[in-house]
Amino acid sequence: MSAETKEKLSESPAPQKVLLMLDDFKRTRTGAVIHQHIKHILEESEALHTESARAYASLLGTLLNAYAQQLPADSLLRTHIKLVQMRIMPPLLASEFAALHRYIEVYAADIKRNNREITETLIEALTPLLEELGADIEETAETTPQAAHATHEAPAPLHVAHRVDHAYRQHLDAKRKSMQEIQETLAGQIVDAIHQNEDFCVRLEIASGRLQRAGSITILNTLREVLVNETKNILDGNRALGEQLASARDHLKTIQSDTQQLNDELTRVHLLSLTDELTNLPNRRAFMRRLEDEVARVQRYGNPLTLAIIDLDDFKSINDKLGHAAGDEVLRRFASDVLSTFRHHDMVTRYGGEEFAILLPNTDREGALHALRKVQKRSAESSYTHGDATLPMPTFSAGIALHKPGETPSNLIERADSALYRAKHLGRNRLEVDAATGTHSSASHTTPNYPSVILD
Ligand code: GH3
Ligand code: MG
Ligand code: MG
Repeated sequence: MSAETKEKLSESPAPQKVLLMLDDFKRTRTGAVIHQHIKHILEESEALHTESARAYASLLGTLLNAYAQQLPADSLLRTHIKLVQMRIMPPLLASEFAALHRYIEVYAADIKRNNREITETLIEALTPLLEELGADIEETAETTPQAAHATHEAPAPLHVAHRVDHAYRQHLDAKRKSMQEIQETLAGQIVDAIHQNEDFCVRLEIASGRLQRAGSITILNTLREVLVNETKNILDGNRALGEQLASARDHLKTIQSDTQQLNDELTRVHLLSLTDELTNLPNRRAFMRRLEDEVARVQRYGNPLTLAIIDLDDFKSINDKLGHAAGDEVLRRFASDVLSTFRHHDMVTRYGGEEFAILLPNTDREGALHALRKVQKRSAESSYTHGDATLPMPTFSAGIALHKPGETPSNLIERADSALYRAKHLGRNRLEVDAATGTHSSASHTTPNYPSVILD
């Protein structure tokens, strides 16, 4: 072998190295044919290898994208991921392949070591990928009404929402199960594909090692046969790999369309389960969720948070005298004409039959009293129609409580509820602030037309 050939050899990629080592073959006619044949085989297998590397690079790109999207926009790691993505140009370098293999191996080892349910681990591993494809994997977890109160009637629309939830839950569960199966197949195929590719590299290495050691033309002839057989195996393996990747792509498409449908259905069920059908206000479940969020926020940042529970006075008599439909009309009008007085970021909800819970974030006792007096005024100016008659809106009583540091949501509700009970007890059509909420000068909180007595 010439010095020039040796120099070229040290810089060339593996298939080129093999060909350079066989350069001397070209001197004879038979040798040239063998050389040409081996060259053709190597080029073909290299093209297949590049193809599979490209598929891996795109898979890796998708996984990195999904991961990056989980990170805050200004995160340094996210920038790093973007840089890595720009660098990962197919075909992958051996080191990049190795990193991808390592990831899969660590992941497989993790399953073994922890003896975890494989589906659980797969879902965990594929969750970012599914989210990338638009799947909403968040559970429609039910909020337990922590502070269910015996005196509060559960509103009828809530039952409707439960029924809808139940019917859909079975349907969604079935869908989720079939998607889970697809995820399992997909993950299994990816692991298989990685292993096949490892085999590919090992076989190529063995063949190239033998070629390097081969001295005589007889040995080379034998090796040629071995190489032809090995390459055939490699080609078969790569063909199977190609098929598996294609089927993995098909699975991904199926998941994409299934998750889109699942998303639409979940959104529908989600909205139904959080909205009161009569008034279109958020329902008790939505209120409980928001209350938990707000209480967590308050614990963290220390802003004031006030809860008011409003209950219409003598509402039953409207039902009794004018009928249930008239009662419904009052509730609708009260929600749309009176409670709309609250500011946009206050959360007005239908808490029970003729009870409304209002969360007033960033609002202290004075702010809450101010808001509720405005509502009292609006209510006194409002009316509803029954047949030809225009009737005055019923009055309401309200209990108000300011969140105390460390207090649980249910405790806050209990205090607002007791204040409401006191307002009823003291004659109705009044605002009562829970004692623990703070002291006051009663004169400064009394509105002449709309009684507003606050007790300590
Ligand atoms: P109080 O001043 O003590 O609050 O008296 P009230 O009559 O308002 O309270 P009570 O708890 O005695 O009655 C509430 C009534 O509200 C009884 C229930 O049938 C009625 N109600 C609850 N939900 C609805 C609804 O969605 N539509 C109608 N029309 N009535 C409802
Ligand atoms: Mg009531
Ligand atoms: Mg009432």
